[in-house]
Amino acid sequence: MKEIRQRPRIGIPRALLYYEYYPMWKTFFEHLGAQVVLSSPTNRQVLAAGSSRVVAETCLPVKVFMGHVLSLVGKCDYMFVPAIRSMEKRIHNCSKFLGLPDMTKAAVPECPPILEPDIDVDKGKRELYQAIYKLGRHFTWDPLKVKKASEAAWQAHQSYQAQMCLRGQTPLQAMEEMFTAGERGIGEGKSNFSFNIALIGHPYLLYDEHVNYRLLPRLEEAGARVFTTEMVDKGELDAFVTKLAGGPYWTYDDEVVGAGGYYLEREVDGVIGVVAFGCGPDSLMVDIVQRYAKKRSKKPFMLLTLDEHSAETGFLTRLEAFLDMIQRRKKIKCA
Ligand code: SF4
Repeated sequence: MKEIRQRPRIGIPRALLYYEYYPMWKTFFEHLGAQVVLSSPTNRQVLAAGSSRVVAETCLPVKVFMGHVLSLVGKCDYMFVPAIRSMEKRIHNCSKFLGLPDMTKAAVPECPPILEPDIDVDKGKRELYQAIYKLGRHFTWDPLKVKKASEAAWQAHQSYQAQMCLRGQTPLQAMEEMFTAGERGIGEGKSNFSFNIALIGHPYLLYDEHVNYRLLPRLEEAGARVFTTEMVDKGELDAFVTKLAGGPYWTYDDEVVGAGGYYLEREVDGVIGVVAFGCGPDSLMVDIVQRYAKKRSKKPFMLLTLDEHSAETGFLTRLEAFLDMIQRRKKIKCA
């Protein structure tokens, strides 16, 4: 393969695992001389475009993802769509992540060439390094350059995670700090909160303000201090996954089961679970958390299910009723 001399543009859809790994991906590509093109935040057109390319039963986050891919067509030379199979030994990802590159090719045939590394930590370090080197070869033949880029990327990922966990930041706040042109952080600078709410769910549901009707800013406007999964140490999350479910089954169990169990035993006034309609793994995981909330913790728990047809009014009515109930309980406790 010829070494590419000009700066190739890599399209990264602002969806699915963007919220978990964007700093790492961006650092890797930029260290190899590429230019990263990030899609704009989700809007009605993006979602409608994505939904029109896949069957109706597809989960909402994948529809959103396809919409972002479409929005990048014509703006980049490559599209980055990794197939992330496992991030830990013997724990596998939801099947949608495994087949994402193939789904993207089928749903968006006009997509530029896809960079599709197979990330499967379960297969061992050797396979992982080979996948990373193969990805880097699109930009350079020099394995040392790829090694340095991957080390810098890993460091960026660790700083990103530490920023969220140690400083209580959401992914949006942490990314804003890392890349000054990022989005505005939620809750930034505020200190007059009147109650605490924990939000559990996948980052692509919690931080996409179009699909969740601005859930975080709304909670904050209502006086809530919001706590999320990223603010909890990984060891604590894993311990609660084991406590509630006997051990992890899916890669992102800790975002629902681990965070749910953790916050149900902490000083928060209520917990809100956010899931996507039609998500198999979440329907099982959230059921475990709901049962725990009912039987063991007795803390208020509400489940919000998102899909592109749910009405905003109904969503907001449920949210307001839940927050009213929490505020009433707090007043009674303080009286
Ligand atoms: S975990 Fe659920 S919401 Fe996420 S991609 Fe898989 S099916 Fe969709």
